[in-house]
Amino acid sequence: MSCVIAGGGPAGAMLALLLARTGVEVTLLEKHADFLRDFRGDTIHPSTLQVLDELGLAGRFLALPHRKAHELSVVTDSGPIRLASLRGLPGRYDYIAFVPQWDFLDLITSEAARYPSFRLLMRAEAYDLIREGGAVRGLRYLDPSGEHEVRAALTVAADGRGSVLRERAGLAPQELGAPMDVLWFRVPREESDPEQPFLRVSSGHVVVAINRETYWQLAYVIRKGGYEELAGRGIEALREPVARMLPFTAGRLGVIGGFDDVSMLTVRLNRLRRWHRPGFLCIGDAAHAMSPVFGVGINLAVQDAVATAGLLAGALRSPGRGPVPEAALRRVQRRRMPPTLVTQAVQRLVQNQLIKPALTRRFGPPRVRPDLARVPVLNRLVRRFVGLGVRPEHVRATPILTPSSHNVDTAVGAEDPVEYPRMS
Ligand SMILES: Cc1cc2nc3c(=O)[nH]c(=O)nc-3n(C[C@H](O)[C@H](O)[C@H](O)COP(=O)(O)OP(=O)(O)OC[C@H]3O[C@@H](n4cnc5c(N)ncnc54)[C@H](O)[C@@H]3O)c2cc1C
Repeated sequence: MSCVIAGGGPAGAMLALLLARTGVEVTLLEKHADFLRDFRGDTIHPSTLQVLDELGLAGRFLALPHRKAHELSVVTDSGPIRLASLRGLPGRYDYIAFVPQWDFLDLITSEAARYPSFRLLMRAEAYDLIREGGAVRGLRYLDPSGEHEVRAALTVAADGRGSVLRERAGLAPQELGAPMDVLWFRVPREESDPEQPFLRVSSGHVVVAINRETYWQLAYVIRKGGYEELAGRGIEALREPVARMLPFTAGRLGVIGGFDDVSMLTVRLNRLRRWHRPGFLCIGDAAHAMSPVFGVGINLAVQDAVATAGLLAGALRSPGRGPVPEAALRRVQRRRMPPTLVTQAVQRLVQNQLIKPALTRRFGPPRVRPDLARVPVLNRLVRRFVGLGVRPEHVRATPILTPSSHNVDTAVGAEDPVEYPRMS
């Protein structure tokens, strides 16, 4: 029995590693030539740190350049407000680690490549499902050398919120709505700048700032559909509020020469009612697109992967059976739907009650700056929700195969060795 996974994001890469280490033949397809793609978040929360720990990877992960955030806070015009402190969370990890997502994916896939049953195909874009006898029996993909097929007992769509395979399976998500989109750009950083990543809110404006040592990665939140109008006013319409909210960047905003230097990321919040067909399963954003609120999407995708491997690895290891039946796949959905429902409900609440008014209404700085982290019940609730999420998953199986000396390059199917470029 074997598994083919479309999409080398957090969900697909983690599932591939977990299956490979228990001896399941697994092929992972990623349509890009590297993991360096548009921003989809840099936040690794305690629940994912715990999973890395259980995999014996926490040491290597924490050796990557990273920033730790022990507190959730928002900087307003009159100063910072603490929302919650992660200190005191059960478990070994009481912080969010900010690590560029390509480093995280590089670590997971290079670890998977040490197992002989893992195969990584880069520049391999899945475009259709193979169907036989009412079940999915694999997928078709395109790479620089042409069209190919991979047959498998289980085909997993981990190809993100624009999932092609989900659509080919006739599954359509229910849209829940998001009031904002995000503009994403870089500004040089200087030694005297703040150290920590932070959220800055001012009347009508919201910015997230992530410290990447030599530059700031900035996310400027705009109201949904507001991009054309903003771009029509010229680049000063973006530079001006950023300079006002982050005064230390003021002299450097000339690097944003125009909207060509800015990426527009559409925010979506949706989920499938049904995540499976016989022999086919959607996980991660393909099953439920997450909003950036609380930065939990990567972590939910990882949790889906851990639950899927825990529930299906045994079946996938047993020899000579046909496609994985829907009854087994339904168990994955039943396990992961409640955390999805609760997390999306809270994201919607924050989107509608805080972000939407913050973007559309004018308000002055708060007269009092409450330290919400000092309200014990509230702090415990927020810290648990953000840090561990609803129903944190744990790696159940121990590896049954000793990792071989395979490395990423030898496991990659495309002709050229894969290199993972770094942003300067
Ligand atoms: C603006 C924005 C900011 C966000 N910020 C954060 C944050 O700070 N923290 C956080 O935790 N979450 C954040 N999220 C949510 C988070 O990005 C997602 O929930 C998470 O990436 C989902 O992981 P995934 O593996 O399911 O999908 P993805 O990360 O989307 O990965 C899908 C992968 O599949 C590949 N692929 C797509 N189609 C195909 C195909 N046909 N064949 C082969 N490969 C394919 C893609 O190239 C990609 O590598 C943010 C989302 C948005 C929109």
